[in-house]
Amino acid sequence: MGRVFVAGSINMDVVATADRHPRIGETVAGRQVLYFPGGKGANQAVAASRLGAGTTLIGRLGKDAFGAELRQFLGDQGIDLGYVQDTAEAHTGTAIITVAKSDNTIVVIPGANGLVGADDVGIVPMLKGDVAVSQFEIPLPTIAAFFRRAREAGAVTVLNPAPAQAMPGELLALVDILVLNETELGFLGGAELTDADEAATIIAVARELQARADQTICVTLGKRGVLALAGGEELVVPGRPVKAVDTTGAGDCFVGALAAQLADGVPLRAALAFANAAASISVQRMGAGPSMPTAAEVATVLG
Ligand code: ATP
Repeated sequence: MGRVFVAGSINMDVVATADRHPRIGETVAGRQVLYFPGGKGANQAVAASRLGAGTTLIGRLGKDAFGAELRQFLGDQGIDLGYVQDTAEAHTGTAIITVAKSDNTIVVIPGANGLVGADDVGIVPMLKGDVAVSQFEIPLPTIAAFFRRAREAGAVTVLNPAPAQAMPGELLALVDILVLNETELGFLGGAELTDADEAATIIAVARELQARADQTICVTLGKRGVLALAGGEELVVPGRPVKAVDTTGAGDCFVGALAAQLADGVPLRAALAFANAAASISVQRMGAGPSMPTAAEVATVLG
């Protein structure tokens, strides 16, 4: 069984709830302040580890109270943090979220995540059969260095290009499995996609984006499930009918679960079905990190 290596962001999400958002220059009294471990890298590592994969996270925290709290939380999830450095040069990545009624505003300060560099990923001991995962919340040259090293070692590279930003062709060419939602596919593929688009339209954009003939592109479609273009083959995994209460982190759960399955040697089609089931469980619970299911829970759903 291989390991999952995630190079990515670690944030503290600070959520303030209020009856309404303040206007510019105004102060309003809030109801509650809540602290949630977040960041796409950390969320995906939590998902993989909860599902039973040996998981190593590579990233940076500040030397501050949030950093200490996040290190404790991630360690408690069974994640290897030997490659998570504490840096004195920046504070821990923080998202300031205000929620009023059902609308939110978010300010994300990358802090230490912005300092994750090629040196941080250059010493990671990956082997054939391992899975290297990253997202767009650490510098892109670092992701390229990480994937180059992974490919040299014979590991599979998985990129979740979120939040969407332009990507150099050399980076895309280093990706074995690209996992993205319709909006991100539209952005990278230069197409206007909506959630009403037909599978054929989505696959056509994915085909255009494909950088190598053997590259897999998985497009997550929320409650509609997932479509994948695996080399030349199209795979369809329908969404599972569930009552969603909070879809935050559904994409992260999907990526972490897919990585855990691939590290376990599960073929792509079955791995996608498993990840789809795992993510459908996560949307039935509040929060990102705390909503990630265990392997036993997914097995129950898959029957
Ligand atoms: P987010 O940014 O909210 O984490 P995302 O846009 O990256 O999500 P989605 O495509 O919304 O990702 O969801 C990822 C996967 O989660 C889907 O492919 C599906 O497997 C599952 N999922 C999401 N929403 C639902 C839902 N309402 N019902 C069932 N499964 C869902």
